[in-house]
Amino acid sequence: MLDRDTIAAISTPSGEGGIGIVRLSGENAFKIADQIFECPKSNETNYPQPRYLYYGYIKDFEGNMVDEVLTSYMPAPKTYTREDVVEINCHSGIIILRTILKLVLKAGARLAEPGEFTKRAFINGRIDLSQAEAVLNMIRARSEDAVKVAARSMQGELNKKIESIREKIIELRAPLEASFDYPEEFEEGSFDWDKLKSEIEEIKSMLEGLLQGIEKNRAYQEGVSVAIVGRPNVGKSSLLNALLQQQRAIVHEVPGTTRDLLEGYMNLGGYPIRLIDTAGIQGTLDPVEKQGIELSRSAAEQARLVIMVVDGSSDWTDHDHRIAGFRKDDQGLVVVINKVDLEQKFKKEEVMRNCSDAEIVETAAIKGQGIKQLEEAVTKQLDKCLGGEEENLIIVSLRHEEIISESVNSIENALYSINQHPLELVSLDLQNAWSKMGEISGDTISDDLLDKIFSEFCLGK
Ligand code: GDP
Repeated sequence: MLDRDTIAAISTPSGEGGIGIVRLSGENAFKIADQIFECPKSNETNYPQPRYLYYGYIKDFEGNMVDEVLTSYMPAPKTYTREDVVEINCHSGIIILRTILKLVLKAGARLAEPGEFTKRAFINGRIDLSQAEAVLNMIRARSEDAVKVAARSMQGELNKKIESIREKIIELRAPLEASFDYPEEFEEGSFDWDKLKSEIEEIKSMLEGLLQGIEKNRAYQEGVSVAIVGRPNVGKSSLLNALLQQQRAIVHEVPGTTRDLLEGYMNLGGYPIRLIDTAGIQGTLDPVEKQGIELSRSAAEQARLVIMVVDGSSDWTDHDHRIAGFRKDDQGLVVVINKVDLEQKFKKEEVMRNCSDAEIVETAAIKGQGIKQLEEAVTKQLDKCLGGEEENLIIVSLRHEEIISESVNSIENALYSINQHPLELVSLDLQNAWSKMGEISGDTISDDLLDKIFSEFCLGK
């Protein structure tokens, strides 16, 4: 499975910066680095000491100075890949990084494939597959909470949970298997079916608990879209501006000025949020506006949460009623009564009657009043509609979700088999779930799938 090449890659993002790193891993890493790194301390007897930063120069094969660098030598096995690793810290400019990379390739290294350093960490047994995938999620995390989730998985929490479930399955299967092998020792009626059933049900609910954390986790990871809807001129763009604290949307007094969808990104309560200001949803004859309205309706439909804005200085209208009707049952809803700085005609009871499960907030968008409360209401609704217990927020990929869903199916089959079929089938269904769950750690996984997982990584990781 593992080739013995020494691999190399630029491990820092391309672009100008203080420091860039070229990393090498493999049994020839030290020898290769020695060919191009000139260090004033190289005559010392204990050179190179592990994990020391050595000052020196990278020189090409003609002896020309390339860059002034700091280099560290890290011998196996206490390294990221469990192989010998060298890191050359040079100045970060794409040409200089590429020049040094070319030199190490010329000196005998092979260009690493995306994710190959992490793949080696997995193959060499330093981390399991779920931890390797968490590394990728850590790199891609777009909110502090996504970082927290990835960090917990990097520590192996998901796998610990899965392994404890797998051990339970082994314990359950042991007496079943024994009864097949030594049927004469098992008297009719001696088997405690109820106990077996309740233990399998417990496994099922543990797995389902993990699945419940998925939607929230995905929201932390990939973000959630929140649509701002409402009649023209109620203050949607002003609210978007107040939320983003910058002038992204054009605020205008003529109804219907927001004809396109305007977007902004922000972080709220740990969620990366894509905020969409939609054109006023109402009947119109203007074809451009009509198009905008269709766009906004579909944006509102796809959003995870809808912020419906109404104008506090006017009555609840039929249009408001129609717009409230666009929101689907599984979408979170925050109703904003805007323009509270003006004389109020609006009756809160109207909202309560039409949208009883909504959070209601009063704002004066142009004065920045009530914005903090709006942020809290959005977070509260998202927490509510996304669900998931804190301890279960550890699933980091779609792959995990599929594995766990399939395992739940096998467990359900086992429960069905208890009532309908012989014990052999119960045992087989439990075995299927056990082996499926082994794919989380990479215990039972094909090489092709492994390649696919690591190909998603960036170069140099
Ligand atoms: P949209 O069509 O729903 O996006 O509404 P806009 O954000 O473009 O606002 C329409 C008009 O209402 C503009 O003249 C805003 O200045 C005004 N407006 C928005 N929010 C408030 C508010 O809280 N109080 C007052 N008095 N006027 C507001």
